[in-house]
Amino acid sequence: IIRIEKLNKWFGAFHVLRDIDLSVARRERIVICGPSGSGKSTLIRCINALEEFQEGTVTVDGIELGPNLKRVDEVRREIGMVFQSFNLFPHLTVLENCTLAPIWVRNMPQKEAEAAAMRYLERVRIPEQAHKYPGQISGGQQQRVAIARALTMNPKVMLFDEPTSALDPEMVKEVLDTIVDLANDGMTMLVVTHEMGFAREVADRVVFMDMGQVIEVNAPDEFFSHPRHERTKLFLSQIL
Ligand code: ATP
Ligand code: MG
Repeated sequence: IIRIEKLNKWFGAFHVLRDIDLSVARRERIVICGPSGSGKSTLIRCINALEEFQEGTVTVDGIELGPNLKRVDEVRREIGMVFQSFNLFPHLTVLENCTLAPIWVRNMPQKEAEAAAMRYLERVRIPEQAHKYPGQISGGQQQRVAIARALTMNPKVMLFDEPTSALDPEMVKEVLDTIVDLANDGMTMLVVTHEMGFAREVADRVVFMDMGQVIEVNAPDEFFSHPRHERTKLFLSQIL
């Protein structure tokens, strides 16, 4: 469902992504890891055209994005994204955060959008928070709202960029469990995370990046027990 070919990106003179090739099948769960600054966020931001790039192509469900980013709107319609910082609108309730896009982008009638949003809030197990404001709920709950909000647009692919790294430790599990539920429902996902337990449990493949390159891609068992590259070994020795 996603094909990335010969993707190259520079920030000015800095070559941040180097010849990235990566394909993701429908229903596949990919975990991306690697040292800080290796280009993980930049890579997934290129997939939904939050970043421009200079060379290569990104194709999502048959919609090809080249360096000119011509089909941005079409691509974004297929993709839900969840960031480290939940990015909810603080002046809107949980429910309003979840109905905004369906109402304004999809022209869905308000009642219908609210009913749909409630179903997604139930799916992330916080329907009882629907009428609170983001500031009145915990970080883990806010992140689950962000997940529900992304789901309201019915995406074919979900991108997560360190969805738990801004959370207090006791809230990490509830958010990971929500993502595991989604994975079990067959959602295609790319997850940037350092939660290696999650990677082992959920990922079909683990992608290791360093200095803008994909260094190694492997099934989690192989990846953790027999890392092939020195840089992967070094990284794993630092985080495990
Ligand atoms: P982290 O684990 O810290 O989130 P990352 O792997 O997600 O790191 P990126 O955020 O993709 O790394 O950044 C890759 C490199 O690109 C870093 O060296 C960063 O400083 C640089 N970079 C990121 N965004 C910009 C920008 N808008 N302008 C210039 N350089 C940038
Ligand atoms: Mg990042």
